[in-house]
Amino acid sequence: MVYRSTLLDLPWLDHGFSTRHAGLSSGAYSALNLGFSCGDDPGKVSGNRRLFFAVFGVEPERVFTVRQVHGDQVFLVDHRVSSTTAHKEAVLPEADALVTACPGTAVATTHADCVPIILVDPIHRVVAAVHAGWRGTLRGIVRKVLLIMAEKFDTEPNLLLAAIGPAIGSCCYTVSAELYEEFQTKYHWLELTRTKQGQEGYPTLNLPELNKELLVQHGVLPERIDVSTLCTSCHPRDFFSYRRDQGRTGRHLSLVLLK
Ligand SMILES: [Zn+2]
Repeated sequence: MVYRSTLLDLPWLDHGFSTRHAGLSSGAYSALNLGFSCGDDPGKVSGNRRLFFAVFGVEPERVFTVRQVHGDQVFLVDHRVSSTTAHKEAVLPEADALVTACPGTAVATTHADCVPIILVDPIHRVVAAVHAGWRGTLRGIVRKVLLIMAEKFDTEPNLLLAAIGPAIGSCCYTVSAELYEEFQTKYHWLELTRTKQGQEGYPTLNLPELNKELLVQHGVLPERIDVSTLCTSCHPRDFFSYRRDQGRTGRHLSLVLLK
């Protein structure tokens, strides 16, 4: 049900990236669909979320999510926000990353191919959950999260730990020549993250490696970044994939909990 990075094996922390196993949903959403806005029965999604949160021993009302819009806004869950329990899906703030330093609080983002990133400042005990699809990656959302962690909590990037979870790999993520060019214009070092040419000559983007490189360029040490090599599109039994399933699929949650 849960994929974890050994890099984040700390006593005051828990985290995980969901797989699609051991849930209540059926069909395209089988089985552990954790997203409410993809067409699945909301009752089953609630049940699935309860099952997933139970793995971490966290109450659903202690888990904070956002309404993801492929932007670069960062939502700070401070003590004021953290003490409210009324955060229904309809009134969630629009953002694509969450940061918290509140003990007993978890932050989570939903995914189906987009890159899930968990950042941990082990000195100040601050955590972040980040959703980076191509738009978020192009906007450099991880850089923005690092800036906010530094500003609010004095986080030093060289002491940060990062886990990049399962996402669509360059094996499957072909893009248009125009989009590739846009990335090249913004990131001159893009070729560093290139692995191979996609099908039919289309260029491919390696979003997990791109986000790793972005973190490195902003001071995070490469040996403190764990990148999963699992491609969501290549593993239909384990993962939902928006691209592979042409939109009709479930969503994963990437969660980090400060105990
Ligand atoms: Zn693949």
